[in-house]
Amino acid sequence: MTSPRKIYIIGNWKMNFTPGESSLYLQRLLNRIPIIRNVEVVIAPSTVSLQPLSLQIKRRQMKLAAQNFYWRDYGAFTGETSVSQIRSFVDYAIVGHSERRYIFNESEEDIGKKVAAAIRNGLTPILCIGETAMDRKDGETAATIYSQLTNGLHEVSKEDISKVIIAYEPVWAISSNKNARPAKPADIDAAVILIRKHISKLYGKEAGEDIPVLYGGSVNTDTAGGYLDVQGIDGLLIGGASLIADSFCGIVEIAKGKLNER
Ligand code: PEP
Repeated sequence: MTSPRKIYIIGNWKMNFTPGESSLYLQRLLNRIPIIRNVEVVIAPSTVSLQPLSLQIKRRQMKLAAQNFYWRDYGAFTGETSVSQIRSFVDYAIVGHSERRYIFNESEEDIGKKVAAAIRNGLTPILCIGETAMDRKDGETAATIYSQLTNGLHEVSKEDISKVIIAYEPVWAISSNKNARPAKPADIDAAVILIRKHISKLYGKEAGEDIPVLYGGSVNTDTAGGYLDVQGIDGLLIGGASLIADSFCGIVEIAKGKLNER
């Protein structure tokens, strides 16, 4: 019997919690979330909390992700943190989140370099892509997805594509945006088809089928199950709801239930 595809539940804490608060919150999650075979639970705290949390976390139970880093390994880059400085603390790295693209003007070229730097340093990049409300209105959803995938994966070889995770996060559905509205499963279904088709074109059919594709945007305990039912979705990237223990633990429970249905 082949084992079911892994489900990823990833909490992006964004710029919330001091290191002390992060540690207390992590402990609450560790007390409530058991080791679940084939459900990979990952949390992404602020950079300043990565080192202390790496000493506290039980890696079989949960893993850590970086929210951001600079793509060069060392040098005169005041204020930056390189992936080589944090690689021993984390297993994953979020790259290309829409807040980095649109608030901090990160270019597609920078994002491509960050994906390559994560892989070079032994981390799994979670490449976030997704169209804005304006892209959607202009009929540019497919073009945006293709461009973000092509440029984000620009330096990734055929051998390394199996080390990458894609997170589809339509910017209009992210809860922190004004006028955010939750995506319908049908919207996500269409995007996942586009993503897998484009990966197949770039890296071959097997890569297109195998690459994990997550969904992110206003996920909560009421909607998580429906999103996990979308064909081709391998997990969820969660912002706001990951800051509330009942919500995050509830979503992990839902994922566990779905695993048994797959
Ligand atoms: C995010 O910012 O990655 C995200 C998915 O946020 P939220 O769940 O709050 O919409």
